[in-house]
Amino acid sequence: MTAVLLDGKALAGQIQIEIADEVRAFVGRTGVTPCLAAVLVGENPASEVYVRNKQRACERVGVASQLIRLGGDASSSELLDLVARLNADAAVHGILIQLPVPKQIDSQAVLRAVSPLKDVDAFHPENVGLLVQGAPRFAPCTPYGVQQLLIRNGIETAGRHAVILGRSEIVGKPMANLLVQRGAGGDATVTICHSRTRDLPSITRQADILIAAIGQPQFVTAEMVQRGAAVVDVGMNRLDSGKLVGDVDFDAVRNVAGHITPVPGGVGPLTVTMLLKNTLSAAVLSVG
Ligand code: NDP
Repeated sequence: MTAVLLDGKALAGQIQIEIADEVRAFVGRTGVTPCLAAVLVGENPASEVYVRNKQRACERVGVASQLIRLGGDASSSELLDLVARLNADAAVHGILIQLPVPKQIDSQAVLRAVSPLKDVDAFHPENVGLLVQGAPRFAPCTPYGVQQLLIRNGIETAGRHAVILGRSEIVGKPMANLLVQRGAGGDATVTICHSRTRDLPSITRQADILIAAIGQPQFVTAEMVQRGAAVVDVGMNRLDSGKLVGDVDFDAVRNVAGHITPVPGGVGPLTVTMLLKNTLSAAVLSVG
């Protein structure tokens, strides 16, 4: 068997066209241009690339963007002051604090200070709570993108066993919360695994849908995958050679899986796309 490729890049392009149409209609109706403010603290080459990609994506769909830079020695209170200003700025609809921030900054305090109505990454406890209750205001971008990837490729989730590797607040836990909700892209039976899980392969082999988000290069081998399973690789790991690989041994697993995402070109482009979707939703919320 050779797995069908889940082309996240192509899907992201398609969803961005839909978002651009929605943005145009929204601007025409309200005169308001959705705007995302990204905050970058210090100099981190990877963060620079991520923020640039997000700004370019904003441009493609007609969303305005601002980039606010603080020096690497910025304090928590400086960042909190900036967040307060952005919260109060009616022209800003979404606020993104690019992580990681330097060590001296209390990142939890900063993320909690972002207005829940502008929290397009969905990290604020209020938005986490709404998601857990099955009434999300914003869904966290990466899991939201994975859910869209499944829905739009016709991969049924209802009644199927989804196994998630990783329990982070950014990927693993919200992924589980989305898949267990009632409705499209939900109704799955969900298992979350982590570094303390015993006999991982015996669990992953039960997965109809296997989502890997552990940050361990090529960790998931063919022996860990049920024949025909849909395998979604969230991982992004840079090898010493410079090559970017996922958490799944793609070349081996594609011979067993029914569907598989590549890295790059799988989940990554969808993460950025769902950020645009959330920024538009925040702008819609702001006008009531
Ligand atoms: P974290 O480091 O926050 O979490 C990793 C999780 O994996 C933890 O729950 C950890 O368990 C678990 N884990 C680590 N090693 C193992 C193991 N050997 N067996 C079982 N579980 C293990 O990572 P993130 O969730 O932030 O990111 C995961 C990956 O996804 C990374 O490669 C990251 O770069 C990528 N990523 C990609 C995005 C995209 O857009 N494509 C967006 C966000 C992340 P424990 O809790 O017990 O420590």
